Amino acid sequence: MGAWHIEVDENVCVGSGMCAALAPDRFVLEGPAASVVQGAADTDADEVLLDVADSCPASAVTVTDGESGEVLGPRP
Ligand code: SF4
Repeated sequence: MGAWHIEVDENVCVGSGMCAALAPDRFVLEGPAASVVQGAADTDADEVLLDVADSCPASAVTVTDGESGEVLGPRP
């Protein structure tokens, strides 16, 4: 388990590609919705992931603390 955990809600993703542009090592846009790159869901803490969550126009990207489950992003 990494320090942080990232998820994409493919049901609300609008396919903007913002996540894959900002963090192509973590997110991929194939077809209408983005997903987390295989094996990348549990990751070291990385500020860019909070930027991705904040930038997603559909608020489809969630970043949580891998241990506590606390939601870190999108930031309020
Ligand atoms: S930034 Fe959000 S809406 Fe855009 S592709 Fe990624 S998850 Fe989907």
